[in-house]
Amino acid sequence: MQIADRIQQIAASQSLVMAARAGEMKAAGIDVISMSLGEPDFDTPESIRLAAQKAVEDGWSHYGAVAGIASLRTTIAKQQNGVAGNQIAWEANDVLVSVGAKMAIFNAIQTAINPGDEVIIPTPSWVSYSEMVKLAEGKVVAVHTKYEDDYCLTPEQLRAALTAKTRMVILCSPNNPTGAIYSREKLEALVAVLRDYPEVIVLSDEIYSALTYDVSALTLAAFEPLADRLIIVNGVSKAYAMTGYRIGWLLTKNRPFLNACIRLQGQQLTCATMVAQRAAESALTGSQACVEDMRQVFEERRELICRLASEIPGWRFNQPQGAFYLFPDVSALGGGDKVAELLLDKAHVAVVPGSAFGCPDCIRLSYAISTAEIEEALRRIKSAIVNGK
Ligand code: PLP
Repeated sequence: MQIADRIQQIAASQSLVMAARAGEMKAAGIDVISMSLGEPDFDTPESIRLAAQKAVEDGWSHYGAVAGIASLRTTIAKQQNGVAGNQIAWEANDVLVSVGAKMAIFNAIQTAINPGDEVIIPTPSWVSYSEMVKLAEGKVVAVHTKYEDDYCLTPEQLRAALTAKTRMVILCSPNNPTGAIYSREKLEALVAVLRDYPEVIVLSDEIYSALTYDVSALTLAAFEPLADRLIIVNGVSKAYAMTGYRIGWLLTKNRPFLNACIRLQGQQLTCATMVAQRAAESALTGSQACVEDMRQVFEERRELICRLASEIPGWRFNQPQGAFYLFPDVSALGGGDKVAELLLDKAHVAVVPGSAFGCPDCIRLSYAISTAEIEEALRRIKSAIVNGK
């Protein structure tokens, strides 16, 4: 059967590939610790699960409005208005609810990008942006950020990458895979450069905004002059441990753009699952104590993994400030591909090679696993690297 050229060129998600390999080894009876997946290990909080059950009983079993349930859109707009630093007045009509942040980003890229348009992606970056741009026949302009800059795009790098063909810049803070957070100063400097390029759309992926440690992450909606070309993306997956519910969204003040996104979604998926939308609404309107409880656990794990990782020879890393990943540079040990293979083979620990994120010097370890597993994984990793076994 024919597989279209468009699809042939799309890479399989490396984090899923590593998870599958770890799964095969586990099935063969090998005790593998998986640090490859990007999802909270917690159960969805009970009140949210109950809301989902109630939605089933209440008959939320029909198609709904393409852009999302009205009360959920209102709730999302309110939530974004309440984010510290937000300077844009969001309304329900600025929101598109989709099947995870992933589908919202996919939709935004499809809606914005014509063949040949350039999209600036600072790397290391989440695995899917570049493949989504390719699917839209856009040109990925990967800008390699530096360890010394905590893998944040600098204004000089941004200016050098911008051309007359640039249509979009994608920023992600807190970042997957690096855990870096752009400070206000760093964002201000980027926004100052973008002032000279008013046609460039700014897509800000803020999916990890609830999971921050020493400092909080500033939303790009803090920059009101960007309002007519800004897309904010967020969702419930990471903050509320709701990855399988598949609810995420985008917000934009640009009404023609939002209407085009809604047209696309209408042909693509009609609407996000209604029961899951109700559960997401309950997550956003209920007590936020569960978010803080999970954040604190991630913070403790971060302390632990950073302490243990600092004892591993040949690793250097910046302390992650958000999300739940450690992203050590292992170039001194032969690079990310080699080290990821060694760790799976000798330590039975699955990590993702940095090449998946456009940064072959590194590996990504998810610390969304128990402290006991983190201790055991890091013990095995150290032993494999120090003793070669
Ligand atoms: N953006 C980033 C940076 C992510 O890491 C992920 C998930 O791993 C997503 C978006 C997609 O999240 P969702 O589960 O809402 O589709």
